[in-house]
Amino acid sequence: MDFDNLNKKKKEHCSSESNNCSSERNDCSGENDNRSGENDNHSGENDNHSGENDNRRGEALRAQYSDKIDNSRNKSDNRSGEALRAQFSDERDDCRCESPISTEETKKVIVGANINKKMLELGSNRSEIRDLFENGIILKQKYGSDKVYDFSLGNPNIPAPISVKKEIINLINESDGIYLHSYTQAQGNIEARKKIANSLNKKYGADVSFDKIYMTVGAAAGLTITLKSLINEGDEIVVISPYFPEYKVFVENANGKLVVAKSNIDTFYPDMDDLRQKINKNTKAVLINSPNNPTGVFYTEDVIKGIVNVLNEKEKEYNKSIFLISDEPYRELLYVDKKYPFITNYYDNSLVEYSFSKSMSLPGERIGYIVVNKNCSVADELYYAIMGAGRSMGYVCANSLFQYVVSNCIDDNSDINLYKKNKEFLTSRLREIGYKFVEPDGAFYLFVKCPICDDRLFSKTALKYNLLLVPSSSFGISGYVRIAYCVDYDTIKNSIESFRKLYGEVVNEKIN
Ligand code: PLP
Repeated sequence: MDFDNLNKKKKEHCSSESNNCSSERNDCSGENDNRSGENDNHSGENDNHSGENDNRRGEALRAQYSDKIDNSRNKSDNRSGEALRAQFSDERDDCRCESPISTEETKKVIVGANINKKMLELGSNRSEIRDLFENGIILKQKYGSDKVYDFSLGNPNIPAPISVKKEIINLINESDGIYLHSYTQAQGNIEARKKIANSLNKKYGADVSFDKIYMTVGAAAGLTITLKSLINEGDEIVVISPYFPEYKVFVENANGKLVVAKSNIDTFYPDMDDLRQKINKNTKAVLINSPNNPTGVFYTEDVIKGIVNVLNEKEKEYNKSIFLISDEPYRELLYVDKKYPFITNYYDNSLVEYSFSKSMSLPGERIGYIVVNKNCSVADELYYAIMGAGRSMGYVCANSLFQYVVSNCIDDNSDINLYKKNKEFLTSRLREIGYKFVEPDGAFYLFVKCPICDDRLFSKTALKYNLLLVPSSSFGISGYVRIAYCVDYDTIKNSIESFRKLYGEVVNEKIN
């Protein structure tokens, strides 16, 4: 990190590009000033370059955390690091999708209270992945966590690149703490965006402009912002099945209608004829995801060109712009030696949604970005609308520390060879047993055809063998299960016997 630059930039904060820094934003900096005053009074953290304060702070942090550890030790004498990790990972996942109230209670509340019904339903409806996860907890208590093969969640299990850790430490120790943790411009720090644009242009021969990059709180935020910026009531967004289930939530939250186009089940590439049919005068955008969650399939250049042809045709037919949104959090998780077709090189009315959750194993840090193609027919307006959408949803700005961290480590990724090793072992063993699937080229998911029609029944039967597999009905298609192989290699090795028994039971005993 160029710290002089970082300090210099401090002065430019909320200047130049920050015409967008509205008066509200200036209020925010007022708040910052107050906050730093407070810090000065209480802990001296803002004088953070003095050794004394550093020590004091370190001491306080250590004390705080050792308290936590001691407390948890008191609760359960012999809790190992493993168990603690498990405990905290359980808590984290609880936060992600916990249903605070039962369905019956929800119904009562909906009748009795005047709170937003749609949001209440959204927050209290249990996801299938959640149910599976809870079953997993029960199984782990009963059989021990090493005897339960949990393939339910897409949480990276490979550490972030070492450069990320070093950069975090560097930034914390060496840079101006106030600036480091300050609000950045709503659209993100300029230097960070320049580094990202340069990297994309170098890597993909793209023509991305930093002033069309908008830093986000991960791809989920990027998508909600983008959809909100594009959709007028009644607009339709076409997705390709199977699709990431949150797409429905994001589209409907923006008052749009989700339209599902089929994929070809031999490849899981979009069925171009069906895509053609699903696009109509109300279509605002087509949303694609490659490498794909849940199939792991990667869209080659030919596939992208096929989609682009359909869109060009339809833009002419309806005499309007139809956008192509490429959701690519798994872009760097590619196991074949093929070029990633960067969407702005192929289609003008396009946007990229990116996240560092998977490529740098930073899902909890919530950091990503949107790229608006500068050649888009309404590039400036769209970018402003994106800023408006972010503002309307109260995002303020992406996590400032991690804007600096990821942009300074922009060309480093987690070691994906470990996922590749998992994938190769798992696919070869499952193929030997008789399971059918399309070979995945990226991400960390395998989408396996169920030997019986009912994916929910298959997933339920799998629980008998301590296998946690997500039924494909969650992804808008029936008859498959998703295996997230971002787990320890040993978990995969030890699970094979269970997969064999499961197959034996359903095929030989003809469960239907
Ligand atoms: N899009 C897809 C296809 C995903 O699988 C995920 C997360 O699993 C996201 C978006 C959201 O990613 P983030 O963690 O960056 O919000």
